[in-house]
Amino acid sequence: MNQITVIGTGYVGLVTGASLADLGHQVVCLDVDTDKIQKLREGTIPFFEPGLEELVDGGLESGRLHFESSYSAALKGASYCFLALPTPSSDDDHCDLHFVLSAARHLASEMQQEMIIINKSTVPVGTAKLVAEAISEELEKRGITIPFEVVSNPEFLREGSAVRDFKEPKRILLGVESENAEKKMRELYAPFSDKIVVSDIASAELAKYAANAMLAIRLTMMNTFSGLCEKLGADIEAIRTVLGKDPRIGSQYLKAGVGFGGSCLPKDVRALKAICLDAGQNPGIFEEILKVNEEGQIAFFEKISEFFDGVESRTLAIWGLSFKPDTDDLREAPSLTLCRRLLDAGARLRVFDPASLEKAKAFFKKEDLIDFCDSEIEAATGSDAIVLMTEWKRFSYLDFASLGALMHSKILFDGRNQFINGAPLEAGFEYVPIGRPSKRQVAYS
Ligand code: NAD
Repeated sequence: MNQITVIGTGYVGLVTGASLADLGHQVVCLDVDTDKIQKLREGTIPFFEPGLEELVDGGLESGRLHFESSYSAALKGASYCFLALPTPSSDDDHCDLHFVLSAARHLASEMQQEMIIINKSTVPVGTAKLVAEAISEELEKRGITIPFEVVSNPEFLREGSAVRDFKEPKRILLGVESENAEKKMRELYAPFSDKIVVSDIASAELAKYAANAMLAIRLTMMNTFSGLCEKLGADIEAIRTVLGKDPRIGSQYLKAGVGFGGSCLPKDVRALKAICLDAGQNPGIFEEILKVNEEGQIAFFEKISEFFDGVESRTLAIWGLSFKPDTDDLREAPSLTLCRRLLDAGARLRVFDPASLEKAKAFFKKEDLIDFCDSEIEAATGSDAIVLMTEWKRFSYLDFASLGALMHSKILFDGRNQFINGAPLEAGFEYVPIGRPSKRQVAYS
């Protein structure tokens, strides 16, 4: 059992902290958001993540999981401290490190004993060094010496399956530069010893960007082929199936869509572009990914607009807002840019999402032309068309025949190809998928 502090109680920090407590460690999760900390102490989870509530409840009940907003209280007795802080894009696309470095300084102003400081945030090469320098400066100001080491341990969890990803990791990457740090990190992750990959710190920091860039490239490639399929009369679902059966390629991250979003891929590709420019490496591939991603989102809007010959005064039901199913995360969700474009073009929107509706209300709070609905059926009622933006599983169980009877006209734009098996078509809908002919009903397997 170790005493661990996790600084930053967001998607990564809370899952990490609650999972480490579940493994038997004593964990304090710290956040500057006092409201969030108060709610967590009462067992209320500030965001939607399957399985997390049970994990937090278990931690609170066992007395191994605590929540704090004071650095001095949170750091008492800790020998490991995780940094799970935001690393958003700055105005010039660089990774903004101010949350990480300010937390590091704050940590140094309160730490009392020897510590391993573990960075989980996605950060450019050189950040561990900057964190170490910031901590040393603060300790010097205090006139004391406390031994510490900074380790890079990038996070690979996926929102929507984050709890399972912690419990069943594919790999745990440790960027370390001393035997002592490696030994201590191996102790901490002992239950997953066969998944540990050890590297130098620079490689660990860059590997996380490489992983996200690889995923973004796959999606960009598929989105490009999807556009090509529409122009040439081919079927992106057939192409996906063929590619997925090739073991050299693999079947993950091959689903074409209306552009990727989320809290990681867009900002990390932007950061990579800036990292390349700073390092004198050609950033072209990353610039192109960002361009294609934006063009794909515009193309989907234009497809809807052209279908109606302009969307002014049209009522559209938006199904799904989160950037993917099983999360309430709206950060850089393509749905938000689509809604913005549709509203600016004069459409009235009836939106529904099973998890992110409250966040969406805050996002669009000054809009008159948007109605927030309690169900996908309520959203579709009286609408001219449904626009599906997130493939929530519950949409698959709907009876399109009775749903169609509630609509002004039976049209479905399927931005995720959720209904390639043809259920809406069979119910008489005009069905508009992406990257394949409208009337195709083959669901490949
Ligand atoms: P988040 O925004 O959900 O959480 C960050 C938390 O840090 C917030 O609660 C915020 O209040 C808190 N915070 C900010 N400054 C603080 C400070 N000085 N002291 C204490 N708390 C502070 O962010 P996230 O999604 O958990 O991402 C964290 C990092 O992990 C980012 O670098 C991200 O790129 C990376 N990452 C995220 C995911 C993901 O799926 N969300 C996956 C892998 C990696």
